[in-house]
Amino acid sequence: MNMKTISKPVPSSAKHSHKAEAGAEAPPVALTQAERGVYVLTFDLPGKSVNVLNQPVMDALDACLDRVARLEGNGSEHSRLAGQARGLLIRSAKPGCFIAGADVEEIGRIADESTAEKLSVMGQRIFGRIEALAIPSAALISGTCLGGGLELALACDWRLVSAGAGSKTSLGLPEVKLGLLPGWGGTQRLPRVVGLRRALDLILSGRAVDAHAAVKMGLADAFAPDEDAVTWAVNWLADKADAGERNRKPKRARGRSWLERSALGRRLLFRGARKKLQAKVGSHYPAPYRALDSIANSARLPLQKGLAREAALFAPLALTPASRGLLHVFDLQQNGKRAAKKFSSKGDGAKLDSCGVIGAGLMGSGIAAALASSGIRVRLKDIEPAAVARGLARARQIFDEAAARRKMDRAAANACMQRISPTTDMSGFGRAQVVIEAVAEDLAIKRQVFSQIEAAVGADCVIATNTSSLRVSDLAAAAAHPERVLGLHFFNPAHKMPLVEVVLTDLTSEAAAARAVQLVSQMGKTPVIVRDVPGFLVNRILLPYLIEALYLLTEGTKPARIDRAMRAFGMPMGPLELIDQIGLPIAGHVARHLA
Ligand code: NAD
Repeated sequence: MNMKTISKPVPSSAKHSHKAEAGAEAPPVALTQAERGVYVLTFDLPGKSVNVLNQPVMDALDACLDRVARLEGNGSEHSRLAGQARGLLIRSAKPGCFIAGADVEEIGRIADESTAEKLSVMGQRIFGRIEALAIPSAALISGTCLGGGLELALACDWRLVSAGAGSKTSLGLPEVKLGLLPGWGGTQRLPRVVGLRRALDLILSGRAVDAHAAVKMGLADAFAPDEDAVTWAVNWLADKADAGERNRKPKRARGRSWLERSALGRRLLFRGARKKLQAKVGSHYPAPYRALDSIANSARLPLQKGLAREAALFAPLALTPASRGLLHVFDLQQNGKRAAKKFSSKGDGAKLDSCGVIGAGLMGSGIAAALASSGIRVRLKDIEPAAVARGLARARQIFDEAAARRKMDRAAANACMQRISPTTDMSGFGRAQVVIEAVAEDLAIKRQVFSQIEAAVGADCVIATNTSSLRVSDLAAAAAHPERVLGLHFFNPAHKMPLVEVVLTDLTSEAAAARAVQLVSQMGKTPVIVRDVPGFLVNRILLPYLIEALYLLTEGTKPARIDRAMRAFGMPMGPLELIDQIGLPIAGHVARHLA
């Protein structure tokens, strides 16, 4: 489409300015003129695959809004002819990403509360300018729209979302997962847009929703087409300008149900949410409680007062040990993902669509369910029909639970189930790209299973073991092609736990490792690449802790007391309860191996 740049790019910061002058680096935010008097603000952070809102980007946005303010017309034909703005569309030039959020590194560098509060006020002020524009505004969202990205979009009149296959649009305010609260207006504007109950759910869990769910709950207003979305959105917004429409938020956050509309109902709602938090996060994470306070403010205070409180509630959180710890975890996860990307880039890059799982027990059924829910077909084998049937029933239960918790709809749950095909022989493994063995923890049995797998699969199939305590090299040594053998160590419950250890032996080929890492990433899990050493990574850290709990037990401490103490310390579960969950035989096996 025809978009002419209306003025020179504004250097976004002193740091970037010499580059901008030299013409080497494009600005992170650019304002261009489109058809019918609509102006388009495009986010495109140079040299990065995603947009984040760091200080230079916020300064550039602020500068662009200065220009928009000068261009604002009154919507008349005359002002259109004079080149004045009748609408502002905000979009991203990054595929798969609108705006991923604020820059977590900048948050991690905050040294005192007043700096934190200033940061919050700064973002609130800039987004407030979008809301205060005399012309209508819309955000065109394709891909991730999280944290500050959604807070920006919430300041617009409308949110238009792309939902096409592969668009991966997701909207959410995940700040509590970093020990923070949405401090750029999120706790005040989200409840005004979707109601208190939904805002509580989204902000306190930090979970994101896809485009369909966003439209259904009123967080987004329309679906954008896959093709020519910008042209379509420009015309959509111009039509609104023609009709003189705005989409103004209510003065206070209320909601649709009676609970949200009456003062008593709201009190019940907030009390219920607080109780749920106490049961779920206990006393170690202050952020969700402060977020709850801030959301409650949105129901009784006008926007500006609510924002001021939001900034004041945000400031102390940024310095808590919980937030610093969670930021560190986030950083480690990002590093892990980058390392994984490097690894999987050495493979053929093809998406995996067919896998096999041997052993339909606790782990095998969970792994099969996790594979199926990432769209991968699974052949699931056990020794006898009753065992496979039990495995299938467990997978069914996992999908039913997901459907009951509205994590997927019934149709999707059924489709997942249909991707798992059960068997008691080795037929149907010829197409599998990866086969994961999860049979009993016994070297002789596993070796036998490995030779059955080798006889049944294609030449480039990767063969993985889920062993916790055997040496992967011992299994590889007996294989005809040790280069395609590795460990894929899932944790229990496999469909939930985000970490998977990818265990490489000295003989594992780069191609096999790449495919394994790709599989784990495709499953939405975090691969950790580890060497074939006792305990791999996680059990090396976990087991000494569990063994210490057992020493306390043998020295006479009551089991309930041990578990209580560790839960009070912040563990989600006591060590003895955890040992029970792992199963005593396996825990014993791993401990002996590690010793
Ligand atoms: P499980 O006893 O629940 O399941 C094992 C299944 O394998 C059973 O259904 C059994 O019938 C089947 N099986 C046995 N021999 C077979 C064969 N020759 N062919 C096909 N199926 C066969 O055990 P689990 O807890 O699921 O553990 C499986 C593996 O996962 C073990 O190697 C274990 O170390 C590992 N692991 C377990 C955990 C855990 O927390 N339980 C965690 C990580 C890894």
